[in-house]
Amino acid sequence: MKRAIFPGSFDPFTIGHHDIVMRGLLIFDEIIIGIGRNYNKRETFPLEERLAAIQRIYDNDSRVRVEVYDGLTVDFALKHHAQFILRGVRSTLDFEYERNIAEANKQLSGIETVLLYTRPEYEHISSTLVRDLHSHGKDISQYLP
Ligand code: ADP
Repeated sequence: MKRAIFPGSFDPFTIGHHDIVMRGLLIFDEIIIGIGRNYNKRETFPLEERLAAIQRIYDNDSRVRVEVYDGLTVDFALKHHAQFILRGVRSTLDFEYERNIAEANKQLSGIETVLLYTRPEYEHISSTLVRDLHSHGKDISQYLP
């Protein structure tokens, strides 16, 4: 049984995130989406709302679970007996950032990180962009799964 966690802030969860999960399911038997609680980051969409919205997307898919976690991502992964951490890469910036975290996580726990490239058409989509549009009263539904 190959189990991965897909950690992130998901503020909000976008079609880019959804695409990574769907493609991750071609590799893993099970994916646990972990919404990291970050007390330093101001959240736009309340945690409970994010949790409920993501759960609704995967309601009928028993291979996907959604959980909120505190603390280190590797501890969350170990707690759920996940052997892998799944992440998406949009740019070289993402790549450098992910490389450092992956290395640290590997050293801390032995857990491997698997990176998937974003589909080109989703490359420009970030939670930050969606939050900005939302705060200016724009319709963001095209970015949400
Ligand atoms: P974090 O705050 O940990 O960066 P995010 O919620 O921003 O969390 O993103 C979670 C994961 O999803 C990260 O691996 C990020 O690179 C990836 N991701 C974000 N946006 C996209 C996208 N449009 N396409 C593919 N992957 C994405």
